[in-house]
Order: sequence, then C-alpha cells, then structure tokens
Amino acid sequence: MAGVQTAVRLRERGWSGAITLVGAEPHRPYDRPPLSKAVLTGKADAVSETAFEVDFDALDVELLLGRSATGLRADDREVDTDAGPLPYDHLVLATGAEPIPLPGTEGTPGVHLLRTLDDAERLRPVLAARRHVVAVGAGWIGAEFATAAREAGCRVTVVEAADRPLAGVLPPEVADHMRRWYAEAGVELVTGRAVTGVRVGDAHPCVVELADGSSLPAWAVVVGIGARPATGWLAGSGPALGEDGSVLVDDRLRTSLPDVYAVGDCASFPSARYGRRLLVHHWDNALQAPRTVASLLVGGEAETPAYDPVPYFWSEQFGRFVQYAGHHDDRDEMLWRGDPEAPSWSVCWLRDGVLNAVLAVGRPRDIAQGRKLIERAATLDPVRAADPSVPLKSAVRS
Ligand SMILES: Cc1cc2nc3c(=O)[nH]c(=O)nc-3n(C[C@H](O)[C@H](O)[C@H](O)COP(=O)(O)OP(=O)(O)OC[C@H]3O[C@@H](n4cnc5c(N)ncnc54)[C@H](O)[C@@H]3O)c2cc1C
Repeated sequence: MAGVQTAVRLRERGWSGAITLVGAEPHRPYDRPPLSKAVLTGKADAVSETAFEVDFDALDVELLLGRSATGLRADDREVDTDAGPLPYDHLVLATGAEPIPLPGTEGTPGVHLLRTLDDAERLRPVLAARRHVVAVGAGWIGAEFATAAREAGCRVTVVEAADRPLAGVLPPEVADHMRRWYAEAGVELVTGRAVTGVRVGDAHPCVVELADGSSLPAWAVVVGIGARPATGWLAGSGPALGEDGSVLVDDRLRTSLPDVYAVGDCASFPSARYGRRLLVHHWDNALQAPRTVASLLVGGEAETPAYDPVPYFWSEQFGRFVQYAGHHDDRDEMLWRGDPEAPSWSVCWLRDGVLNAVLAVGRPRDIAQGRKLIERAATLDPVRAADPSVPLKSAVRS
C-alpha cells in the first residue's frame, strides 16, 4: 500500500524520473484489509477484491515482483536484492510489517498466520470445511478471523493470554463490553490463559496447549498475536532502527541515511501532537505518509508540512463497524457517548478538556467529526460531549 501510494503520489506531483517498485510477493500489489473480511469467507474473489485500481503501465512504474530486498549499501546508493543489486538516487523503504509467530509453532502443520493473499488463500478451504478452528490472540486480527470463521459456519475458540480482548489497545472498561460480542456470535472466548504450544494431534490435525495444562483440539490454528516492522533485511545496513524494529524517521519521513525515506507499517515518526514517536499499523497511515515523501522529493522541505496525522483505523467484527481515531493514554479522561450495551456507542478521551482520541462502534459520524476536532485540538464541553444526541462538533467549547 505505502509503496504503491508513493509511486502514485510522485507521478501526481509531476515526478518525471524512473520509478521502480520492488516487492517480495509474486502477486501484483494488493490491499490487505479485505483479506480478513470478505476474502476469508469466500464471499469475494480474492484477486479482484484486493487489487489496487492502479495502472502501473500508464504511470510508467516498473514492477519487480517476487524479488526481495536483502540489504542496503547507502555509500554505493544500491539496494541488494535476491536477483542482484539495484542502484537508486532516492530510496523509499515501505516493507510493511510481518506477523509475530507463536514461538515454537513455525512450520507446524495447521498453524497459520494472516498477512498475505497466500495466507488468506490457504485459510479459505479450512473455513469452508466448517470445522473447529482456534485463534490465538483476541486482538483485531483474531476478532476479524473469528467473525469470518463463524460466518463460514466453523466452531471457533479464541484464546487470549490477557484478561480481556484488545487488552493492549483499550482499557478494561471498554474492552470488557467486547466480550459479549464474542458470546453473541457463538465464539468461545478463553481469556487469562496463554498458549504454550501447538502439537500435531491424532484425531485432529492440531492440539493447542495452554499454560494451565489444558489443551484444545483443532482443525486449524490462526496466530494473531501482533505484528512487527519487516525490517530484518536492513540489519547492519545503516538506517537507525528503534527498539521495536521500526525505521526511525524525522517529521518529513527521512531516515538517518541521505536520500532514504520510510513510510507505512515499517516506520515510526515523531508526533508533536502526541509528544511521542508513533508506530501505527493502519491503512490510513500507508495512504497519507507517501504524500509527504512525494511533496518533499518534488517540492522540497519548504513546501512540505511536517507529517503529524491523526491516526485512524477501522475494523469490522461481529457485525459491527469499529473505528478509532487519535491516540490516548492513561492520563486521559474517558467519556462515554451512549450505552455500550446498545448497538452503537462511542468513547472520547480528553486531556484537560482537549479531545485526544475517539472510539466509535457504529457511529461513523463521531469519527468523521472527531478526527477534525482532534486535528485542531478542540476543547469539548464534557456534558454535551457525553450526550450522544448532540453531534460531537456541537460539543466544542466556544
Ligand atoms: C489481514 C489484515 C487486515 C487488515 N485490516 C485493516 C483494517 O481493517 N483497517 C486498517 O486500518 N488497517 C488494516 N490492516 C493494516 C493495513 O493493511 C496495513 O497498515 C497496510 O497494509 C500497511 O501498508 P504497508 O505498505 O506499510 O505494508 P504492507 O501492506 O505489508 O506492504 C509491504 C510490502 O513489502 C513487501 N516486503 C516486505 N519485505 C520485503 C523485502 N525485504 N523486499 C521486498 N519486498 C518486501 C511485503 O511482501 C509487502 O507486500 C490490515 C492488515 C492485515 C494484514
């Protein structure tokens, strides 16, 4: 997504130089969000559902597919690939993220990850067989996989080491309400128990072993315990990397190396808005960041504002449209808009009255307005903001 958008934005801005897009996967570049949704259930043809509507020939972009970057030699201005070196004048790193495997289960038959078109293609027949499947991790991917697997008619168990779903992202007051979503969808949610391993079974292809000594037989296991920047290939190549493995960029998305930039899931950028570095694995970030790089390359620094977006993410789970904008932490005051037992509600996070983040379930208008209010650091009247019948934009203190 971020690599393709970089090419598209550069041409839009009138970049006339050659553009080469190198991708490790054999497929033409494609969009990932449908993979855990319509593609998994087989409701949509995988290739047509995910294809980017980009005419690479018309854009005069050379695609080098099935080719992996293996290293970077900045002094020589060359990227090494498994099919030989490629010279560059400017280099944009956009290698995305890779799912974190469950230690010890790599290569175990029946254990799947869900990041690529090939991953989703491998899972489709598993779901179509309507057997018992287990998801490890009740994060975004685990929830979307469970939704698709239930829709396909599978028996589904989700095992989560924390005491609630989405524990790393949402506070207990909010995440606890999401437990009910699993139950209503007929998904068994096991919390507070870590998966220690997966072994090959006798009657079933897999046996999932839990920390308390119990085990779950399954026909397939999907591991959704998080993702990390796909930057292993850069080790020793020079660009500064963070402890989380992300490429460290400045507020114009420049790396520590001259003429090397990084965008999307592989990069973390300093956010003045939130006073910290952000690594966001969100589709919208892969859409927005390339505009900054294209502007910098074509127009120069003076024309290019600092990259400091309001992060935005959506998820579709258990028949609900869940959206989140902004970034909150423990210092923020939480404010409910509506009843979390109802089909639609939202939560705002405020610091000293200033809106920092919004989570909305079935209330897209709260997100549309919230994003703009966060952008301009609007102060809300908490009484009006807590009234779901008052549009969020009308809760601004004058
Ligand atoms: C199943 C799934 C569902 C998602 N759903 C949502 C959603 O509902 N909402 C949302 O906001 N976000 C969603 N996301 C996240 C969103 O898709 C990502 O944020 C987005 O794809 C990031 O774009 P990117 O270009 O940075 O990385 P990617 O899309 O991962 O692209 C990186 C590309 O680089 C290639 N690559 C990696 N290493 C190398 C190398 N060494 N050499 C050459 N090529 C390499 C990879 O093969 C890949 O094709 C979802 C992600 C997944 C996996």
